[in-house]
Amino acid sequence: MSKEKESHDAVCLECGDRIIYGRSDRKFCCDACKNKFHNRQARNSRHFRQQVNTALEKNYFILDSLRKTSLRNIQMSDLRNMGFHPEFFTSYRKIASREAFMCYDLKYCVCGKSVTSISRISVMSDEDICPHDR
Ligand SMILES: [Zn+2]
Repeated sequence: MSKEKESHDAVCLECGDRIIYGRSDRKFCCDACKNKFHNRQARNSRHFRQQVNTALEKNYFILDSLRKTSLRNIQMSDLRNMGFHPEFFTSYRKIASREAFMCYDLKYCVCGKSVTSISRISVMSDEDICPHDR
């Protein structure tokens, strides 16, 4: 460690070793640590997206199975017990006291602690999705 005079107090975000060389804003001790760190971040991000997609798929399956029944109203707690994750949805709109959520093409309303009006909307055309691209 002959370059001790360039040392600063920063530590490598990957291995935690003190960063001895380079600029004071360096975050990694070496390229290997930098790559390892960024690869893990990308992997975590991909894993998170997969978890969200899985939760949305599960929500969709639960909502769709309920939609096919004559049930008009279900408690959110019962939905949760079925494995529904209310924190995941694809869009949201508040209309007066009603909260309308979408899970892909399934719409449902949350009013207080109950979920009502599960219905399938007609799938939007490209024109509905990107009106400015036309
Ligand atoms: Zn390191």
